[in-house]
Amino acid sequence: MRAALNQMFADAKAAKMPLAVRSGYRSWAVQDASFKRAYAKYGEGARRYYAEAGHSEHQTGLSLDLSDGTSMQGYKFAATKQAGWVAANAARYGFIIRYPEGKRHITGVDHEPWHIRYVGVEVAAAMAKTPGITLEEYLGLV
Ligand SMILES: [Zn+2]
Repeated sequence: MRAALNQMFADAKAAKMPLAVRSGYRSWAVQDASFKRAYAKYGEGARRYYAEAGHSEHQTGLSLDLSDGTSMQGYKFAATKQAGWVAANAARYGFIIRYPEGKRHITGVDHEPWHIRYVGVEVAAAMAKTPGITLEEYLGLV
């Protein structure tokens, strides 16, 4: 996954679409603290963007949040030119946009154009044939 990410970052940079990792692997303790902090601030609303420990893909090491390197706030990534580039190109490197638009009823998470998950080039290419498909739909879980 690291080599795929490095290649995607290099190609994005060459296309004048610099990318950075805003958040990668998270341990149980880090995820737990993050959720509790958000819950104390937002209450139940925190569940839209924060997962309890044991429920975050970040704990698998296969998912990460991207930024354009200038803003550390996830929702701002949606408005960057990088978001479009990632949506169009991530599959070439084996990554998917894990939480597509309009699929919250399936994934349980709002659209997060910054959160990508490594599934390998073969699966990513197969999924790219059906734009907006979720991993749950691809795997036949729903
Ligand atoms: Zn994420």
